[in-house]
Formats: sequence, C-alpha cells, structure tokens
Amino acid sequence: MTTTTAMIPFFPPDLFEDDRDLLLDAVHEVATDPVQKFILGERTARFEDLLRTDLDTEDVIACGSGTTALSLILRAMGITAGDEVIVPAFGCAPLANTVLGVGATPVFADIDPHTLVIDPEAAEALITPRTKALMPAHMFSVMADMPRLRALADRHGLRLIEDSAVAQGAVLDGRPAGTWGDAGVFSFVQVKSFGGPGEGGVVVTGDPELARTVRMLRNHGQDGAHRFRHHLIGLNSRFDEVLAAFQLRRHPGLARRLARRAEIAAHYTDRFTPLAAEGVTPPPPGTNGRCYYVYTLLAERRDELKRHLAAHGADSHVYYPQALPHQPAFAPAARPGGSWPNAERAARQCLSLPVYPHLTDAQVERVTEAVLGFAAAPAPVA
Ligand SMILES: *Cc1c(COP(=O)(O)O)cnc(C)c1O
Repeated sequence: MTTTTAMIPFFPPDLFEDDRDLLLDAVHEVATDPVQKFILGERTARFEDLLRTDLDTEDVIACGSGTTALSLILRAMGITAGDEVIVPAFGCAPLANTVLGVGATPVFADIDPHTLVIDPEAAEALITPRTKALMPAHMFSVMADMPRLRALADRHGLRLIEDSAVAQGAVLDGRPAGTWGDAGVFSFVQVKSFGGPGEGGVVVTGDPELARTVRMLRNHGQDGAHRFRHHLIGLNSRFDEVLAAFQLRRHPGLARRLARRAEIAAHYTDRFTPLAAEGVTPPPPGTNGRCYYVYTLLAERRDELKRHLAAHGADSHVYYPQALPHQPAFAPAARPGGSWPNAERAARQCLSLPVYPHLTDAQVERVTEAVLGFAAAPAPVA
C-alpha cells in the first residue's frame, strides 16, 4: 500500500500562519506608536507582568534570549573564575557555554537513563568546595527532579539555577517550571513551546535582590532611572516590543497549545509503551512534571528508525547527537577520566518525533503507525 500524502515535517513550515494577523498587527502597532520604542517599552513591561501573575512569583525580567537569561543569572549570582557549576552531561550548548562565559567551570553530571534529566546522585558526587551552583535543565519531555535538587542545593549551600527554557507551562507537584530554582528561564525562540518569530527570553525569580541586579545587567548595568549611569558591567540583552505585543495577544492560546501537545504525546506514549522489548522506549507516561517541547524516544536502532520513518512519510530529528563533555568546545573543561555512560547512550539512541499543536489526528496516526511498523519488522541479521 502506498500513499501520496506529503511528508510530515519535523519543523513545520507554517508555524505562525494561524497568528499571521496578530503578527502583522503587532508590527504595525509598534512601528506607528508615537513613542517609537522598539525595545523594553510598555509592552515588554506588560508581558513581564502577565508572566509574573501567571507564575505568582516575585519578578520576571524579559531579555534577549534563553541563553543570555542564563548568563544574566550567573553574573548576578557573582559566579566567576575558580567557581564550579554542576550541569547535565546531555543537553544543549548553553548549559556549558554560559558557565564558561563567566569564567567558571561546568562540571558534567550523568543523566537518568530513562527520563534523560540530570541524576541527583551523580550531581551530589561531584560537589566540591568550589561548587557554587547546580544548573539542571528540563529536557524534552520531563522536568528535572526539582524537589531532590532543591534539597541537595539547600543541604550544601548552593544556588539552584533552573534551566526551564523549554518548559513554560509545565507543572511539577503543583509548582510551575521556572519557580523551583533561585532563578529560572524561559526561551521564546521559534521551536520552543511558546516560541515566536525571533529571539527572546525571560529570567524568573523569587529573589528581589537578584531581580534588581538582572534588570540592570540586561541593559548595560543601568538602573532604569538614570540613563548612562552604569552601576555594573552589563550586557545588551533587551526585549523586542514587537515580540512582546505578539506574545501578549497570543498568550490566551498557550494553554490550548500545550494541551494539544500533551494529547499527542500521551497518544504516542500509550501506543509505544509495549515496544520496550523491541528496543524502542518512550518517555514515562503521566502528566506531573511533563513538558512537550519535543517528544523524544530512545531507540536501539535509532538511525534505522529515522530512515524507516522518512520512508513512511514522517520526518524526525536527533536532539542531541553528542554528549556535552565530548563536544570539541567543552571537552577541555570536562573532568579528566569522567564517564557519562547514560548521556552517551542517549546521544546514540534519542530520536524526536513531530509534536507541534497543529498536527492533525491523521498525521499523528501516520507517525504512530510508522514507529509501530518499524518495531514489528524483524531486526536485520547482524
Ligand atoms: C533553547 C534552550 C536554551 C537557550 O534558549 P535560546 O533562547 O535559544 O538562547 C537553553 N537551555 C535549553 C535547555 C534550551 O532548550
């Protein structure tokens, strides 16, 4: 049986099509506003207020990206040369490069083999007198074990930086992602679950002193009241008014988008859970502490599965093909003799499936059937 249905893309070509009018209106409104303020204006302030109310936290500070949000937090905490920050060995580059960027050393901890988030026991074993902070990241489908990491940080007097870049809207034990750490972040780059057409991020914190420092640092160390008085050595990490206007108007639809992602993910997990014996493992089921940035399977024959899916009309993507301590840029910072078997296995086996909210049920079913068909086929004789 063959169908002529088009390939289901992993990165949809029409991400903002449903919001086209909102986007064009936002550009027009900001461009023709007599105040002519294109960064850090009144819309950015309202967007910060909206998220602060949403999260019921002390402060939300909009900035240039999720990456600079992490950099601002590290700087505001005074983390610097000679300090160590414990990060997961599997994840995206900002986990390592933001720490190196303030002159400190990322110390890579192995991950849990199934949930793919930092293993708190591995993290604890790496604490030294130089350790200043833990920086766990919520991964593709699962939030890090924040209750244990919070307790670990408290027990050792460490700061807790929550890389919740992908997890806006996720909730663990009734508490939103971003509010578990001393500070957390969200990213609004296009692929994230509340991504927009450009760069943007926020710092989320319950600590008013940290918030005040981050606000200064994001705009060249100025305090907001006195322009051109630089109290701190800051960055340019400001927020765009067009993106703020767009996100403000689109925000009421976020819960519905997340619910659709969760529905697709639950369907995949339900159908794929029996495949463990065939070497295909979905993320754990459930809704507590789950995020649906991307939906990531582990497959023993990952590259074969990827080819099979492509042949059956479903595109997929490998996030991330190499563990952080093995990246050329970060390997020199990794502890000699370190070993990260779970991170290495995840890099070999991870495969992400399309999970964006405007997938139709028929498309979801096509992806599902393609995975099931692969698992049902006999493995090639080695
Ligand atoms: C995307 C991402 C970031 C960085 O966000 P940007 O806005 O792209 O700079 C940081 N951490 C994690 C876990 C991410 O997935």
